[in-house]
Amino acid sequence: MAAEQLTPSATPLDGTAVQALSAAVRGTVLCPSDDSYDTARRVFNGMIDRRPALIVRCAGTSDVIQGVNFARTHGLVLSVRGGGHSVAGKAVCDGGLMLDLSGMKGVRVDPVRRTADAQPGLLLRDLDHETQAFGLATPLGIVSVTGIAGLTLGGGLGWLNGKYGLACDNLLSADVVTADGELLTASAAELEDLFWGLRGGSGNFGIVTSFRYELHPVGPVLAGGVTYPLSKAREVLRFYHEFASTCPDELSTVGSLGTGPDGSLVVSIVVCYCGPIEAGQRVVRPLREFGDPLEDGIQPMPYCTLQSAADTGFPSGRQHYWKSSWLKDLNDDAIDVLARFVAENPSPTTGVGLQQMHGVASRVDQAATAFPHRGEQFDFLILSNWDDPTDAERNIEWTRAFFQAMQPFLERGVYVNDLGDEGDDRVRAAYGVNYERLAAVKKKYDPTNFFHSNHNIQPAG
Ligand SMILES: Cc1cc2nc3c(=O)[nH]c(=O)nc-3n(C[C@H](O)[C@H](O)[C@H](O)COP(=O)(O)OP(=O)(O)OC[C@H]3O[C@@H](n4cnc5c(N)ncnc54)[C@H](O)[C@@H]3O)c2cc1C
Repeated sequence: MAAEQLTPSATPLDGTAVQALSAAVRGTVLCPSDDSYDTARRVFNGMIDRRPALIVRCAGTSDVIQGVNFARTHGLVLSVRGGGHSVAGKAVCDGGLMLDLSGMKGVRVDPVRRTADAQPGLLLRDLDHETQAFGLATPLGIVSVTGIAGLTLGGGLGWLNGKYGLACDNLLSADVVTADGELLTASAAELEDLFWGLRGGSGNFGIVTSFRYELHPVGPVLAGGVTYPLSKAREVLRFYHEFASTCPDELSTVGSLGTGPDGSLVVSIVVCYCGPIEAGQRVVRPLREFGDPLEDGIQPMPYCTLQSAADTGFPSGRQHYWKSSWLKDLNDDAIDVLARFVAENPSPTTGVGLQQMHGVASRVDQAATAFPHRGEQFDFLILSNWDDPTDAERNIEWTRAFFQAMQPFLERGVYVNDLGDEGDDRVRAAYGVNYERLAAVKKKYDPTNFFHSNHNIQPAG
């Protein structure tokens, strides 16, 4: 590391201070002249091109504390990278200090108590791999290369929500490094206000160095998708709306529209039944008997196979621009707009998702955790992505026009983990009715708003 080549920051960094930080951490400190710097500053969304003055690749909690203290003392913006999958790219900052937790991948499963202690650099696939060794799992997301940290702190929608709730509903406790470099443990029994805020407050209060999750018996599951041509969108999505609204907690579903492997436009319904396979076969029969599908891939499979099934569609580094809100009523007019815009989709890799929220996840009281969007609904998400940066303008224009046309059917609320950089109103819409209480927790645990490279909650007052 060549400390003399540091990017200027709020308080000029002197090489001696950086050398001292390097010596104090067990991981590594990178600056712009280091070979691995450019790889380390990259995140999932290829549109994000920020250059921190320093990257601290943390090996453990001690390094996190060192990094926090260094950034605070030197007046540096601090950003925190877990799995690096936030589409807004908040994990990386310009000119500040990026704490890279991706090397912190420790996990300990207690199969008797059915808990897992997990470090924040784990991806979903890492944690699932360890818990599935014991036939257990905690609800996470649906793409296995996503980071557990950002996903859990924002909520966590995935295949087990109907039966076991969101990822954040299964958090039992968390170790948190605060802005003054103190390590706290929050749970239902201690620091209850902090624990409440961590479950949906999206990294606003401190840096989580360990998550304790509740585990459940899971797998094999009955899962896969049934695919139809987009020309059948109206019949298929009408059926889907009805099917999803009557399905048992064990079944979770995702509707998707986009381009199939052969280049034709398709609409699919993907399901996961996490109870006994035979019972699942009965539950999914109406779906399998509906219409004349191009493909029916529903079959029993290991849970980890389902979790990684969508991974190839999400390689790191593509340009991404997303728009999202909650959708309660998938009526015919909404379906017509969906089908019309998908038919004019400028990128074959772009997809539209309708991720179902129902069952246990939907029945948790709105005030029980910081995650406010409870109730039966779909997370409607336009996942625009393309490879060539010169295609940005037309893809972004199409996404905005599509989102605008969907407005009559959408709720104001938005899932915080789907947000791009969309301004304060959208951030407030993400925290919804819980915003004021979150602001009070923020004031107590981070009164100077030291942690602001996130979907930010302003300290109350
Ligand atoms: C391909 C893809 C698929 C996805 N699928 C799903 C899905 O199925 N369900 C779902 O709910 N979401 C999904 N998401 C959204 C996902 O939840 C968010 O992108 C989330 O931010 C990912 O977490 P991360 O750790 O990878 O992100 P990062 O970009 O590393 O972090 C995001 C933010 O979280 C905060 N943060 C991260 N780690 C910590 C920490 N240890 N302590 C405190 N704050 C921290 C920071 O503010 C950081 O800026 C998906 C995203 C992508 C790109």
